[in-house]
Amino acid sequence: MSKSKIPQEMFQHVVNNALDFLGQSIAELQQKPKYSVIHFHAAIELVLKARLMSEHWTLVISPKKQADWQEFTQGKFVSVTLEEAATRLEKVAQSGLGDKQLKSFRAVTKHRNQMVHFYHAAETEQAGIQRIQAIVKEQLSAWYFLHDLMLGQWKDTFKEWKQEISEIDAKLREHHEFLKVVFEELKPKIEEQVSEGYIFHTCPSCGFESDRHPDESDSLYESKCLVCGLNEQCILIECTECEEGEALYRGIAEAECSSCGHHHDGSQLLEKFVDDGAAHMAVKDGGNYPFPLNCGECMCYETVVEVADSQYLCTECFAVSDTYGVCGWCNDESTNLSEDSYWRGCEFCDGRAGWDKD
Ligand SMILES: [Zn+2]
Ligand SMILES: [Zn+2]
Ligand SMILES: [Zn+2]
Ligand SMILES: [Zn+2]
Repeated sequence: MSKSKIPQEMFQHVVNNALDFLGQSIAELQQKPKYSVIHFHAAIELVLKARLMSEHWTLVISPKKQADWQEFTQGKFVSVTLEEAATRLEKVAQSGLGDKQLKSFRAVTKHRNQMVHFYHAAETEQAGIQRIQAIVKEQLSAWYFLHDLMLGQWKDTFKEWKQEISEIDAKLREHHEFLKVVFEELKPKIEEQVSEGYIFHTCPSCGFESDRHPDESDSLYESKCLVCGLNEQCILIECTECEEGEALYRGIAEAECSSCGHHHDGSQLLEKFVDDGAAHMAVKDGGNYPFPLNCGECMCYETVVEVADSQYLCTECFAVSDTYGVCGWCNDESTNLSEDSYWRGCEFCDGRAGWDKD
């Protein structure tokens, strides 16, 4: 067998295993919650490893060990942990996990470790129900992010499994039933908050009408689902097409109009905030309006707008920054600048050091 064929087969094997573990985890939830958590955790790790393998086989091997082709093909190797995988996805594959994704995966890992070491099957019925509810919340939000990565950011890696991924999605969503009690209990609180002016949408993770948003547009805020805890950076703008509906961006630079369905991406956000900002500047005193800036997170050119004082949003990757600076070497404005940008440059130039080297 050729060397290049083996990683491809192992890669497929890893993805199939990940999906298999997910399926098991869903089936085991009620009868064997302990195994459900363990298998769910294994599935997350395998998906991250598969993504790393699609880059290069050595990336799944623990940084503490020497990569060895023989050992790898025999499956005798120590593989990366969740944290190590996350670091490599960011640093090497340049396709990292966001804070929320990582946080939600870490919660599963933590729970898994507790289950392995401290779980006792004999518990009261009430404690058992609460445990299952806690697991469902955790799995729904971890899946929300995982599924989003597999069908979005990493779709080239996982496109062959699109069908299976959608089937798992449907099955996992049936678990939503376990959270019905939580939703029922929250109803009075939700009604109270509606009367205070909050708006509740259907949560994209747990499916209940418990996703709380303030009634405001053109500003960045954090939504929060009262049932499953999902929270995201959001911004609501008037539809640029029909001017009747609104487009709600949640965590990513894509949104659909609530009325005409028109698809919005980062360009509408960019245009809106740059126009508003420039108009505001002109009224004030003219001067130099530096926006849009370059994004130091995703390295996109001129995509960052000012949405409020000290709130700079990238309309491409949706990262929010509270500062920006001017590169000491190339004079371009960007977020995420290092202290000695004159010497080290920014994401867009190599600075003085790079100049000297040539
Ligand atoms: Zn929810
Ligand atoms: Zn519209
Ligand atoms: Zn960006
Ligand atoms: Zn620069």
